[in-house]
Amino acid sequence: WELNVHPIQGRGLLVRLADRTGTHAAEQMRVDFVANASHELRTPLATLIGFVETLEDGKAAEDPATRGRFLKIMFGEAKRMQRLVDDLMSLSRIEAEKYSLPQTPIPLAPLIEEVRGALHSGIVADKDRVIVEIAPDVPPVAGDRAQLSQLLHNIIGNALKYGRPGSPVQVSVKLARDNMVKLAVRDEGEGIPAEHIPRLTERFYRVDPGRSRSLGGTGLGLAIVKHIVERHRGRLEIRSEVGRGTLVCVLLPAATAPLPPALSSKSHT
Ligand code: ADP
Repeated sequence: WELNVHPIQGRGLLVRLADRTGTHAAEQMRVDFVANASHELRTPLATLIGFVETLEDGKAAEDPATRGRFLKIMFGEAKRMQRLVDDLMSLSRIEAEKYSLPQTPIPLAPLIEEVRGALHSGIVADKDRVIVEIAPDVPPVAGDRAQLSQLLHNIIGNALKYGRPGSPVQVSVKLARDNMVKLAVRDEGEGIPAEHIPRLTERFYRVDPGRSRSLGGTGLGLAIVKHIVERHRGRLEIRSEVGRGTLVCVLLPAATAPLPPALSSKSHT
């Protein structure tokens, strides 16, 4: 609550009591976000500086094996910072575009194939684990190609990361009710305890921070997914069973077919 008292000449006081709960919550979130992002960047940066200092000292740099090991760690930390900065930039770009509705008709099948290939060269390489099933009648979605690619990358990437090593990841696409296209990604992994599920799309929220970091996670993947889904006027649902696996569903509006040119020109004559 915010209390304002203004004297009004000769007529007493004007007292204003305003509910600032919403503004304060938003401000607190912004402060927490900046603090978290700085902390996430600071840790790999400190490691990098430490190794540079040790190498500068001389001895470590003279031994090729030690030098190689150090450089490998430094490269890993620099890559971690790069992923984080890339994700932060994606988040702010998606947020900046949130009022424009993406309208390009995007067929999901080739995009899934592309993402499947891209994930293969990542840390959790194994594209043969991804089994794709696309219903024959499924229409394209109304979307933003780059953002949908990122959405697929994050969801399928998580299923591979948190799925049991070697276990399959099932990706299916079909037409659901209300002209929505339903994408479902199912893994056979450790699952997520129910109390964490509502918070997974918060920035930097992780069930097991150590595990997420060791798998190369930034903690921003599902926050990015949530923003992309919102911009596309879609819905995101996460269901999970501990010890069995997780199912992530995204519903996206189908691209409505444009009027055939013959029809639309007739209506003008
Ligand atoms: P991260 O970069 O940590 O993977 P995300 O935002 O993508 O960040 O996910 C947030 C957290 O949700 C993860 O740290 C993990 O704890 C949990 N999570 C996401 N997807 C899955 C999944 N398929 N199975 C189990 N846990 C998951």
